[in-house]
Amino acid sequence: MLQAIRYSLIERICPMRKSSVALRLFIALLVCISFAGNLPVAWLPSATAAENPLDSQLKRRKMVTSQLKSRGISDPLVLRAMATVPRHLFVPSHFRRLAYVDGPLPIGHGQTISQPYIVAYMTEILQIKPHHRVLEIGTGSGYQAAVLAELTNQVYTMEIIPELADSASKRLKETGYDSVNARQGDGYHGWPDAAPFDAIMVTAAAEFIPPPLLQQLKEGGRMVIPVGSPFYIQHLMLVEKRQAKITTRSLMAVRFVPFRRSQ
Ligand code: SAH
Repeated sequence: MLQAIRYSLIERICPMRKSSVALRLFIALLVCISFAGNLPVAWLPSATAAENPLDSQLKRRKMVTSQLKSRGISDPLVLRAMATVPRHLFVPSHFRRLAYVDGPLPIGHGQTISQPYIVAYMTEILQIKPHHRVLEIGTGSGYQAAVLAELTNQVYTMEIIPELADSASKRLKETGYDSVNARQGDGYHGWPDAAPFDAIMVTAAAEFIPPPLLQQLKEGGRMVIPVGSPFYIQHLMLVEKRQAKITTRSLMAVRFVPFRRSQ
């Protein structure tokens, strides 16, 4: 539980506003409550709060302006994707009212849905074109996969926790993202049958870049992956493959949930 609190408190280390710190403390409190599971559900924000489609559309527009454009996200297709995907349908119902806040949220099993800015940033950095084939490792709620599916209809996503893989797969279908290919399994091995990929996104922090993912990256392809120990600062890395050579560049300090391995 302590780990979950830490991750919800700080997924992206900079830049962070004072208001974000307060917000993250509030979210951490909610994480404690959801993990403790013994406080009345009525105490938690109402599940219906953001369900009015106009209401959530307005919240998304505000999120795009105040959290994304203001921090430099400028690709119109990424901004449109972020303004389109109903994030509130990808978070647990008792966190729906908080779906558009400037931070990550718990999705159960000690995992989190990333902060909207991080989702947009990682998507923008991959420079996805409509004909691209994209692999995401760490489906979680399915939200990031849905954002990718707004940009290409060749999205492959893998999740190691069976319960999350099942629920995300159902949620993606229910929300109309049925073009997404979702599979349960250890993403360390990638998805060889569908390789090579123009872009690969890993949404859990690995100690090193899994070699099978490098192999499955197309010539000219891009990968974004948080690299580092779960207990220290991790770096969001951009990995590029050009003329069979791999180059890496550190983009920013981040804090992600750990990359796990199957037994
Ligand atoms: N992209 C998700 C959030 C990711 S949280 C979203 O939009 O909601 C990171 C996810 O990576 C967790 O669900 C975790 O279970 C998963 N994960 C960790 N290690 C993995 C691995 N080896 N293979 C596949 N998924 C993994």
